[in-house]
Amino acid sequence: MNPSSKLQSIPIAVVADSGAALPGAEAELTSLYEAHKKIYPRSVSGLFSRWRWGLVALTQLVFYGLPWLHWGQRQAVLFDLGERRFYIFNLVLYPQDFIYLTGLLVLSALSLFLFTAVAGRLWCGYACPQTVYTEIFLWLEKKTEGDRSARMRLDAAPWSANKVLRKGAKQLLWISLSLWTGFTFVGYFTPVQQLAHEVLVLNVGSWEVFWCIFYGFATYGNAGYMREQVCKHMCPYARFQSAMFDADTLIVSYDEARGEPRGARSRHTDLAQAGLGSCVDCSLCVQVCPTGIDIRNGLQYECIGCGACADVCDSVMDKVGYARGLVKYSTQNGVQQNWSRAQVLRHVLRPRVLVYAAILGSVALAMAISLAMRSPFKVDVVRDRGALARIAPGGKLENVYRLQIMNATEVSQDLRITVEGLPGLEVASEPVVTVDATQARWVAVRVQLPYDAATPGSHPIAFDVASLESAAHVAEKSVFIIPR
Ligand code: SF4
Ligand code: SF4
Repeated sequence: MNPSSKLQSIPIAVVADSGAALPGAEAELTSLYEAHKKIYPRSVSGLFSRWRWGLVALTQLVFYGLPWLHWGQRQAVLFDLGERRFYIFNLVLYPQDFIYLTGLLVLSALSLFLFTAVAGRLWCGYACPQTVYTEIFLWLEKKTEGDRSARMRLDAAPWSANKVLRKGAKQLLWISLSLWTGFTFVGYFTPVQQLAHEVLVLNVGSWEVFWCIFYGFATYGNAGYMREQVCKHMCPYARFQSAMFDADTLIVSYDEARGEPRGARSRHTDLAQAGLGSCVDCSLCVQVCPTGIDIRNGLQYECIGCGACADVCDSVMDKVGYARGLVKYSTQNGVQQNWSRAQVLRHVLRPRVLVYAAILGSVALAMAISLAMRSPFKVDVVRDRGALARIAPGGKLENVYRLQIMNATEVSQDLRITVEGLPGLEVASEPVVTVDATQARWVAVRVQLPYDAATPGSHPIAFDVASLESAAHVAEKSVFIIPR
């Protein structure tokens, strides 16, 4: 816990068994929960801030822009839950392709392990939606209410026309952005142009309205009010990240040996004579911190590794004419042993990182190959449960199946159905079927076997569905039942 935190204490009267208050006796009720103190992060500029804004721009360009992109006649990225079809550029995925989602989750987890082993909470500080939206909401807050000190003054001031105007403008911008975010989110599941039209004519479905408002409200609450509380108390990643850190992980570090003893001084103070370190104790590193911690107290779980303190401290060092890097990305070993940047980077590339990178590369390669070799259609076989077997005209034994054929391409496909597994087994219904682009079709297939060609019982057979236009084919197993 932050050492500066104070528990809330409330004096209460002590009462006797009779219920009467005992004169002069007073006890103190101590809440186990710290009273929340609002954090007013000061805006900052610098290398890491530019990186963060670059990633804010990139991630939001992708998030808000992707639903509006077209691929042929359809939305490029659309998760059509109603039709159970997921379109990602040229890929048409079915629920049967969920293995790719599993692969994606494995890739994400491995990437997180790798990035954390290399440079701590990189994801948290630069690309996590909580950070990204908090950054945008803070920017809107700064535009309407001013920077840190102006916002603190405004909050402390009594209500006035100026305060109502500024707070109102902020709320208007926050709510508009939140609703736009909710709308965009829904646009990944409902064609976004159709959704926009429905919004304009006020004819939106109830589920769309619910998810727009729900997602928008989550954005508003998390980025507008919860902010660092999400990182400190709700996000599980903050809890297990320490398991992935070691002494060679790059973290935002304060160079205590160089900075202490801290203290104010004039520009021309001789540090050796005054017995001071490089830290001028300006507290700017605390003021810019989005989680309100003091990096000079060492690595804390609240630190999201955003580098804001490093940026501001560098600007302070520039002003007082000292070398940059009092607060910087370095490793525990690097700081303790005073390593150069090259030495630090050499130690970052340790076996653990190389193993993570190798596994990540292998999984990514396997996924890419699997996607490239993916069949252009899928087949599911379901036996007709209404009748096990029957005698067909001509005296043959007949079993009926239902084949679900899913076209995973953007063009119509002609497919030939054949069957094998028993001598004389053949498809008696129309063997060639056409499945339209991106459509799934149920086909009833009658399979016949000459009477007495096999013993009674259940016999394994296999359907083969082959494309007439390419070499692609899919084999699916089933059974042929011969009654006694
Ligand atoms: S910004 Fe740098 S100089 Fe200022 S208090 Fe923080 S560490 Fe010290
Ligand atoms: S201590 Fe520095 S790096 Fe960590 S969250 Fe605060 S400002 Fe960001």
